Amino acid sequence: MSDPSTPPELYAKRIPIVPRSIKGPFRNFKTLILLLGYAVYFGLPWLPWQRQDGAPQAVMFDIPGRRYLLFDLVVHPQEVFWLAILLFIAAALLFFVTALVGRAFCGYFCFQTLWTDAFIWIEHLIQGERPNRLKLMREPWSSREKLLKVGLTRLLWLALSFWTALTFVLYFGYAPELMLEFFTGQAAAAAYITVLVLTLTTYLAAGVLREHVCMFICPYGRFQSAMYDPGTLSVHYDKRRGEGTAGRIPARAGLRSLEERHAQGHGDCIDCGLCVQVCPVGIDIRQGMQFKCISCGLCIDACNNIMTKMGYPRGLIRYDSETNLAAPQPKPGLQLEWKNVKVLGYGASLVLMTGLLIYSIATRHSFEHSIQQVRQPLYVTLSDGSIRNRYQIRLTNLSGREETYTIEARGLPAGALDLGSFNRVTIKNGKSVIIQASVKLDPVRARRLERFEFVIRSGQGEIAVDEARFFAK
Ligand code: SF4
Ligand code: SF4
Repeated sequence: MSDPSTPPELYAKRIPIVPRSIKGPFRNFKTLILLLGYAVYFGLPWLPWQRQDGAPQAVMFDIPGRRYLLFDLVVHPQEVFWLAILLFIAAALLFFVTALVGRAFCGYFCFQTLWTDAFIWIEHLIQGERPNRLKLMREPWSSREKLLKVGLTRLLWLALSFWTALTFVLYFGYAPELMLEFFTGQAAAAAYITVLVLTLTTYLAAGVLREHVCMFICPYGRFQSAMYDPGTLSVHYDKRRGEGTAGRIPARAGLRSLEERHAQGHGDCIDCGLCVQVCPVGIDIRQGMQFKCISCGLCIDACNNIMTKMGYPRGLIRYDSETNLAAPQPKPGLQLEWKNVKVLGYGASLVLMTGLLIYSIATRHSFEHSIQQVRQPLYVTLSDGSIRNRYQIRLTNLSGREETYTIEARGLPAGALDLGSFNRVTIKNGKSVIIQASVKLDPVRARRLERFEFVIRSGQGEIAVDEARFFAK
């Protein structure tokens, strides 16, 4: 017994979690997402894509060219608001999914989950199933088998971390060339530093810290409870069914069939502990909903397998809502509670912002322009009495290729607009030019004219018309 005069330890030693592997639909779904996610992440930098101006790579952050190449879409810094909309959509999607089906993002889609899953798979491949891994853990470091197996596991973790980091860097250049430069020591220092930092952080997060990232580092795990309400789906243990009135008890002679168990007041849980052994964050879901739970559903697979083996109905652990579980007769199946303000609000913002992003991309111009009147001074009276106004025209080529533009004025007498030698201007893709324009009118016309129009035409025939004002007093 601990001495009551001794203050409690503030630091609890971490007990390593050694999850058992399990088969079942949730495990299969997780594996499918993992394979898809890895195929996209590791494969995209190698996907060829022909374009007129730029590397033949489908997805690339072209930092020197100040643009982001995404298949046929070329995004320039001027379109940074798309990124803002995209971030809003990502946040709204996360909130929508959480309000509807709880922490599903954490359990299936989060990078931390995907990489931890792969690391556990490697561990399982080299060291065997949970009992073998536990046995290996207890062996001293002088054991040759332990040194070999743990060493090989760590080496493969490091290799996956390195490949993850290198792939990230490949998004910032033409992958085949960058790869060659990297391994021949000719890549930029930033590439080596990024790979080093990402290798270490991936190794630490997925290999060493694991569930601690979800519990103590990730802010989402903490604030997601604010999006929960009693109607939100999450992984629950059906306590009434599992415990009965006399509690759970292992299946032994006289307590094997449900009839025998129910007759003695016991519930359907046979206390096999499999749901705890498969949990990647090491919790016992039978103790109720916990913030550490990432909603991965592996305990559902584990318990369903046991229920099937025992000949009991499945679903002792299941995705359900607190409302349904508390009902005198819980309804079977997934009870999606989507008719509430929170879910509908997140859903509406999601649809609205996605629509806005699609509209904005679909209707974007091949060039951007702005026309500012020079206001210092607003007008100048020249020695011959004529009045001059000046304008600054900024043109940015977003067409994806070199383009020539013509600038004219509508509503002005011939010769009134002076653009220097820039009536026709050729601009490289993604570049901007600033053109100084002046309009000079005789005093009579200057007093009459208030407005006219600038007309900018691209070589592809796209036209932009902007109204401008003329000041004479
Ligand atoms: S309790 Fe179940 S759903 Fe939650 S993290 Fe553990 S295995 Fe996954
Ligand atoms: S897997 Fe099912 S039966 Fe086994 S301990 Fe967990 S809840 Fe009980």
